[in-house]
Amino acid sequence: MSAETPTGTAWPVIRKDASTLAVLPHLADYDAERAAFSWDDARRALSGLPGGGLNIAHEAVDRHAAGPLAAREALRFVRADGSLESITYAGLADRVSRFAAVLRGLGVGRGERVFSLLGRRPELYAAVLGTLKAGSVFCPLFSAFGPDPVRQRLRLGSGRVLVTTRSLYRKKVAALRADLPDLQHVLLVDADGAPEPGTLDLAALLDTAEPLEAAAATRPGDYALLHFTSGTTGTPKGAQHVHEAVVAHWATGRFALDLHEDDVYWCTADPGWVTGTSYGIIAPLVHGVTAVVDEEELDVDRWYRILAEQRVTVWYTAPTALRMLMKAGAERAAGYDLSALRFVASVGEPLNPEVVLWGQESLGLPIHDNWWQTETGGIMIANYAAMDIRPGSMGKPLPGVEAAVLMRGPDDRPVLRDGEAVEVEHAGDVGELALRPGWPSMFRGYLNEEARYRKCFAGGWYLTGDLATRDDDGYFWFVGRGDDVIKSSGHLIGPFEVESALMEHPAVAEAGVIGVPDEVAGETVKAFVELRPGREPSSELRLDIIGFARRRLGAAVAPRDIEFVEALPHTRSGKVLRRLLKARELGLPEGDVSTLEARP
Ligand code: ATP
Ligand code: MG
Repeated sequence: MSAETPTGTAWPVIRKDASTLAVLPHLADYDAERAAFSWDDARRALSGLPGGGLNIAHEAVDRHAAGPLAAREALRFVRADGSLESITYAGLADRVSRFAAVLRGLGVGRGERVFSLLGRRPELYAAVLGTLKAGSVFCPLFSAFGPDPVRQRLRLGSGRVLVTTRSLYRKKVAALRADLPDLQHVLLVDADGAPEPGTLDLAALLDTAEPLEAAAATRPGDYALLHFTSGTTGTPKGAQHVHEAVVAHWATGRFALDLHEDDVYWCTADPGWVTGTSYGIIAPLVHGVTAVVDEEELDVDRWYRILAEQRVTVWYTAPTALRMLMKAGAERAAGYDLSALRFVASVGEPLNPEVVLWGQESLGLPIHDNWWQTETGGIMIANYAAMDIRPGSMGKPLPGVEAAVLMRGPDDRPVLRDGEAVEVEHAGDVGELALRPGWPSMFRGYLNEEARYRKCFAGGWYLTGDLATRDDDGYFWFVGRGDDVIKSSGHLIGPFEVESALMEHPAVAEAGVIGVPDEVAGETVKAFVELRPGREPSSELRLDIIGFARRRLGAAVAPRDIEFVEALPHTRSGKVLRRLLKARELGLPEGDVSTLEARP
């Protein structure tokens, strides 16, 4: 059997049954479990603070350290040279409590903001959780940010503390100090006793700290995390999250990542991005599993080696990384023993059907796409373990999540009837993807941008800014970001569909598609294409790819023009920056490119 994508491309459905599933999955009976689920029940699955209240660090670390999981490996760091550093739940609890005590000692108060500019190293994890334990608010930055994005975010968030390394401090922060009046303390993780003006030696402070016993008595609605969005569509926004988000991290870790007690889990996300916190730190620890952390960046053989040698069972990664593995060829995976792996999930961008099927071939497992945003704090729509996969679909809403496709008026705002937003009429109609507010990890504001926050809600719904369709069976399909969608000769074209079709061509590694203004059609489709290794750009190849796309998509939707590029521009969270391709194409200003990844 096959399923049709919204524009009619057919892909084989990937069936799941008892023989294809390694363990009994959570959410095995979607309808029944969804109907029975309540967020209140999920809250009761966590312990809460003794004496009331809720604190993420208590749920993720302290309660495990005080129970049967104390000696279990919580974090396993794979260093550059391949050596390992393991930290048990008890060991992590000690580090976290010391960091919390250091903050107390410095007079950092509840709700005040602690930033990090750090790679994936043990000190980062202690800092995130120690900040939460102390009742302060944590905000991670990409360690690869240049001075400008660092200054912009530290200022916006009135950062009081920054945790970083000596070299990052010297390169990116030292010269800005006069511009950052709120920044009182810079803690260096690698000071090693040698003083650096304007900073403190974190290790020395941790050594002498008296570990903070009890977590701050935070309430569910107290601020915990500040996450800047990826800046794919414009200036990044500071989404504010609360301690109660941990309830959703627990539930989604269970339903969408299918975490079971004995799992060895690896999330490849950069810690500067919301995925790095929600699913790189909180969700696995709340479930008491072992989380593998690679201290290095993507490298094809290194990644396969980690999957094989660390016996990873559940892997959470991103389409751009998967496309890079794919580009390297299926035979690269063949030399590694991936038999421990039982579940693979992806987030951040639409996952091309081609990649889902590649997973089947080279990893022996399909890849499960899921959808969420910085604002939602956790996974909302997913292909879960027991679900038949329709490649190219985001899946279905998780328990506790109500999603809809809303009709949009000429002003691109939802159409309201009696104050309620109206859903599109038919399955397959394109509209704005919306969620019914009320899930625990929902953001509670954009920092200092109240009006922008309020604009995200209308007619009883939270508006995601993404366009989607829903099919007859309740699967949701991503069409494009509201402002990436192309209008050509009366057709509404989602770049994702075109990019996915292009990727089926054997020469294409990755593609980015934009609309270019056209007097007759309104807009025409232009594609930027990165070729697979060993393929050279030529006008024959261009025509061949255009012809291929026409046969796949029809002349109205296929790209009119193709430009070959060495590499597509990506955000640091791995998303193709189509607005940058478009600005360059049209000779317009590039806009905010603070999250642009520097690639060779
Ligand atoms: P900004 O809001 O600053 O423009 P951003 O939206 O890219 O940046 P994030 O919150 O990191 O910032 O990304 C969320 C967005 O990523 C979603 O709204 C959606 O457009 C896209 N996305 C995430 N996961 C998926 C997915 N599985 N399929 C399709 N799109 C996805
Ligand atoms: Mg966004």
